[in-house]
Amino acid sequence: MIPTALARKARRVRRGVPVLMYHLVSDEPVPASFSRWRVTPQVFRRQVETLRRLRFSTVTAGDLDRALRGERPLPPRPVHITFDDGYVDCLRHAAPILQGAGMTATMYVVAGLVGGRSRWMADEGVDLPLLDRAGLRELEQAGVECQSHSLTHPRLATRPDAEVADELVRSREVLEDVTGHPVTSLAYPHGSYDDRVRAIAGESGYTTAYTTQPGKALGSDDLLALPRVKVDGRDRHATFVARVVTGQHVGARVRGLVRTPEGVAR
Ligand SMILES: [Zn+2]
Repeated sequence: MIPTALARKARRVRRGVPVLMYHLVSDEPVPASFSRWRVTPQVFRRQVETLRRLRFSTVTAGDLDRALRGERPLPPRPVHITFDDGYVDCLRHAAPILQGAGMTATMYVVAGLVGGRSRWMADEGVDLPLLDRAGLRELEQAGVECQSHSLTHPRLATRPDAEVADELVRSREVLEDVTGHPVTSLAYPHGSYDDRVRAIAGESGYTTAYTTQPGKALGSDDLLALPRVKVDGRDRHATFVARVVTGQHVGARVRGLVRTPEGVAR
C-alpha cells in the first residue's frame, strides 16, 4: 500500500519534533550566570551544519500547529529553531548563518522592550541590547519569524489575570504592527505558566505556546504547553546532537551535581 501524505505526517508527528531553544548567539563576553544561554557564532555554525548534514528541515510554529492539528504534513526530519528575547547579536550572527544554510527560525520577542535592554535581568548584572523595529523587520527578511515572548518578560504564573491578559494581548498587537503578519505563537517568559496562564493565552489569540519543559513536540501534546529542547552554551557538540535526537536535556543532571542546578530559562 502506498502511504498517504497524512499517514506520513502522522508518523513524523508521533516520532516527535525537536523545538530547539536558543537565547543569545554572540562572541561578546557574558556574565558566568548567563553562559548557559549564550552560544558563540562558531558553535552555532557547527550546530546548523550538523542539522543540515543530518538532513533536518526547519519548520515554523505555524507549520507545527497545522501538523499537530492534522491539517498539513511536515517535511521529513522536521526541526523548529527558536530564539527567546530578541537580542541584537542574533541578527548579527545567527541570521546570516541560518540564511546561508537555507533554514528558517522563530524569534520570541519581548514586545514592550523593542529597541531597549534586557532589564528583567538587571539584578543579575546582565544587560544586553534588544532589536528595534527595523532590526526585527530585517530578521524577518532573513527568514526568522517574530512571535511573542510577552510585553515585559514577567513570571506570568505569579501575576493577576488582567496583567497576564494585557501582557499577551498587547505584545501580539505590537508585533503584528511591526511585522504585518498574525502573531499566534508564544514562548512563556522564564518558562512560567500554569493552567490559568495557559487558558488566558488561548483566549488572547495564541494557538501554540512553548514552555521550557524538555522533550519533543508530539501529536498528543497540548498546543499551549509544548516542550522544547534546551541548547546550552556550555555543552559539547556530542551533547547537542544527543539532545536533538532524544529531545531530552542529557548532560544537565551530571553538570548539576558539580555546579549549580539548572534554573528555568530566561
Ligand atoms: Zn526570555
